[in-house]
Parts: sequence; C-alpha cells; structure tokens
Amino acid sequence: MREYVQGPSQEQGDLASRRQLVRKLVEEFLKAIGEDPGREGLRETPGRVARMWLEELASGYFVDPTTYVKTFEVEEYEGREGLVAVTNIPTRSICEHHLLPFFGYTHIVYIPSGRVMGFSKFARVIKVLSSRLQIQERLTEQIADFLNEVLNPKGLLVVMEALHTCALIRGVEESMTMTTVALRGVFREQRELVNLALQVVSSSRIPLPKFEGF
Ligand SMILES: [Zn+2]
Repeated sequence: MREYVQGPSQEQGDLASRRQLVRKLVEEFLKAIGEDPGREGLRETPGRVARMWLEELASGYFVDPTTYVKTFEVEEYEGREGLVAVTNIPTRSICEHHLLPFFGYTHIVYIPSGRVMGFSKFARVIKVLSSRLQIQERLTEQIADFLNEVLNPKGLLVVMEALHTCALIRGVEESMTMTTVALRGVFREQRELVNLALQVVSSSRIPLPKFEGF
C-alpha cells in the first residue's frame, strides 16, 4: 500500500495533547488578526475549532482507509465489459493553499474484474482521503490510485466536481468550480469507453449551485 494510506504517526502525540496545542494556537491566531479571544463570543471558539479540526476536518490523517474496504466477488462474463457507476458521492475537503473548504460530488465508474464494492464503502474511503489538507487534483488521483489497488478493475474513471470557497468568498477572478478526472486501465486507451462513462455520469449527476455576480 502507498504511503498516503498509512495510519497514524505516533510522533504527533496523543489526541488530547494535540487538541490542547491547536486550541492554544487558535487563541494566538485570534490575537494576531486583532481579536480578543477573551470576549464572550470567542471564549469557546479555540476549543471548538480544535475539536472540529482534529475530529472532523483533519481526522483522515489518523485513519487507514483500507479499514473500510470490503469487496465482493462477482461473476465475470466473457467478452463483456459492463460498467458500474457510483455517482453523487458527497465530497468535502480543505484546500491546502488557503485552509478553506471545497465541496461537491465525486462520481466513480469502473469495469470490475471480478470484484465490486458497496456504495457506502466508496463514501467512507473518500471521507478518509478528503479529511486531510488537499488540492482537488491530488485528491482525485489518490481516490483513483486507492480504488485501483483494492478493486483492481479493468478500468476506472473518477470525476470530481467541486466548488472552492477560497475563490468564492474572496471574489477572485478565478473559476469557483473545478472538475477533475482521473483515468486508470482501459479508460486510458479506449476513448469510446470514456465517452460512455462520462455520459452515464452526466445523466445522473447533481449539478453544483451557481453563484452569479460575485
Ligand atoms: Zn484555495
């Protein structure tokens, strides 16, 4: 297994001491931006932020996604290359450039070679890999690499569409939505299979909301 799917590193200390450290740093951060961490509305904020980061947003550093993998054998049909599409998997992560969220949906299409996996397991694997600081391009590739290893499909296509709040709230002249595609196996060579897979995705995808005039 690749390094990115390894479990926790003990060097970072136990959860309680990390939570304590993050809490203290958030307090310092509040002071540095000109706030008073002692005022009523902010008193609970450092502790709340520390819990949110360690237990949710950055919880994926300490979890091995293989824990959630459960595959099933399926019969192979000679000469047939049936597609399996798992679409609209909610995906939320934090952009490593701005520490702001990006979110959207991941769509997975694969051609099994004897093994399949249930919908909820895809969601769990994505949850682990996205609960780390990411850029969308790398997250998409990591999901593809991971699934390619555990399912060993004949072909795999991963599409992620996400809205980036770092572009949204800063009013920058960049696109707020990004689409990334990762291809493995036969999808790398067979254009008509890619087209078919993308058709399946576009017929079932939930479109992302549009924000105009930002
Ligand atoms: Zn960003």
